[in-house]
Amino acid sequence: MPHKDPAKRREYNSRYKSSNLDRVRALNLAYKNRHKDEIHLSSQEYYQLHKDEINQKRREAYASNPEIRQRKYETGAIWRKANLLRFNELHRSFTRRRKLQILEAYGDHCGCCGETSFEFLSIDHINGGGTKERKQLFDGKRQGGFQYYSYLWKQHKETGEWPGGLQVLCHNCNMAKGFYGTCPHQSEWQAIVNL
Ligand SMILES: [Zn+2]
Ligand SMILES: [Zn+2]
Repeated sequence: MPHKDPAKRREYNSRYKSSNLDRVRALNLAYKNRHKDEIHLSSQEYYQLHKDEINQKRREAYASNPEIRQRKYETGAIWRKANLLRFNELHRSFTRRRKLQILEAYGDHCGCCGETSFEFLSIDHINGGGTKERKQLFDGKRQGGFQYYSYLWKQHKETGEWPGGLQVLCHNCNMAKGFYGTCPHQSEWQAIVNL
């Protein structure tokens, strides 16, 4: 029976809900399944619009109650275990996206030969010292790959600027530079320039 008075309606609804919990849950789940895509989209849109506010609230909640983080981590771990394939897929897509964003920021093609396939590209220290820097950053371990991209991303987020002294090179040019001090592309081109 619908109530005109909002307070009464709320009371009626919450009473109905608590005495028919299973039915309400089943209906909610069915609704969510029927409208999966729209819900996903609208929550994403909502997040994009209120990103700062949501993240700020989350940070405050974490700071005031460290248990929340722990609890989230635990539920996440349970989900990961039960959905390993999906987790790997999501993780791959996330790391790929992040790497692309960073390569784009540094010029999205090999600064030596112009290669553009992102699978071939990486970040190079223009004046060397990459290994040393990584050792310093990651507690003596020579962590490469994604940790370093995460570090760059964090730096940019905190300072608004991308760390300097870096460029995009493809793995070939990067290796050649590492082994021989310069990439053969450079000497070939230099030779043509000098003709
Ligand atoms: Zn190259
Ligand atoms: Zn090259």
